[in-house]
Amino acid sequence: KVTQHIEKANGKPLFSFEILPPLKGQNIQSIFDGIDPLMEFNPPFIDVTYHREEYEYKELANGLLQKKIVKKRPGTVGICAGIQNKYQVDAIPHVLCGGFSKEDTENLLIDLDFLGIDNLVALRGDAVKSETYFKAEKEGHNYASELVTQISNLNKGIYLDEDLQNTNKTNFCIGVAGYPEKHMEAPSMDSDIHFLKQKIKNGADYIITQMFFDNQKFFDFVAKCRASGITVPIIPGLKPIATKKQLNLIPHRFKVDLPDALIMEVVKAKDNDAVKQIGIEWCTQQSKELVKAGIPLLHYYSMGKAENVKAIARDIF
Ligand code: FAD
Repeated sequence: KVTQHIEKANGKPLFSFEILPPLKGQNIQSIFDGIDPLMEFNPPFIDVTYHREEYEYKELANGLLQKKIVKKRPGTVGICAGIQNKYQVDAIPHVLCGGFSKEDTENLLIDLDFLGIDNLVALRGDAVKSETYFKAEKEGHNYASELVTQISNLNKGIYLDEDLQNTNKTNFCIGVAGYPEKHMEAPSMDSDIHFLKQKIKNGADYIITQMFFDNQKFFDFVAKCRASGITVPIIPGLKPIATKKQLNLIPHRFKVDLPDALIMEVVKAKDNDAVKQIGIEWCTQQSKELVKAGIPLLHYYSMGKAENVKAIARDIF
């Protein structure tokens, strides 16, 4: 369990990372190729993101639009099983509210349990591209806190069908998302932390944060969480910037700020190779400061591109 890995760390900083499933049509070797170079840093676990289906519209010859459901990155559960089998480290699937009824969720949790996957991250998921706001499935969850309740119920042997009470109990360690710069839809930081606390009350064991590029935002967020009575581990999420395009993409997609000093360095860089180096140096400095502050585990958004994260990890772990 993630919490046990942190307890056992004994002052030595731990390294973990997140990958995403490959586009449909690729084999699992493409995933292993992104993991192999990072195994020398002994990650206690690897996160695998979940990607829900999207709706695409295709124009037919008669001018009408045909709605098509596409799932571009399937395979989260299979990849997790493959990782645990090949590397003997814990694989952590992300589990979403979006696209799942409670029954679908229960069945997914049973699959994970049978595969020996005892960690997961419970998330709401974003709105699908064709919608402005998140819409829960009929008979699904509206918020991650409700999903956390369902998972902790199953840990107690409470299934949706009341006749199944006290049968097999699962054993999930539950992570949830936290946002050092607040979630994009939250009206204020205080309200976001109020609902974050709800996820902990409902049974979450730790928080893993959205990426941030200014450590002070993380330190302030942790202080606010602690002041509100949240005591669980808070794991910082870090991403090395790698392309000029990300200067606009990251604030737009994730609603996080980039510090001016970093922006100016990237703007002045002559090409993306130079940006990659700037991103590595920035993230290395962030990592060193977090380790110095006693943060026990740093989590990297490698997104399958091991090279940058490896350059950082070599300096820290
Ligand atoms: P929630 O905790 O449900 O919060 C969503 C919003 O609702 C917040 O603004 C919150 O303040 C508010 N809120 C919560 N409860 C209530 C309530 N009862 N009443 C009113 N407001 C409330 N997305 C994917 O699709 N796949 C992934 O694999 C994935 N992995 C992620 C990993 C991390 C570490 C992070 C930080 C995000 C990840 N995401 C992923 C993105 C995530 O799904 C989105 O950020 C999503 O918009 C919110 O998810 P959440 O679990 O934080 O939602």
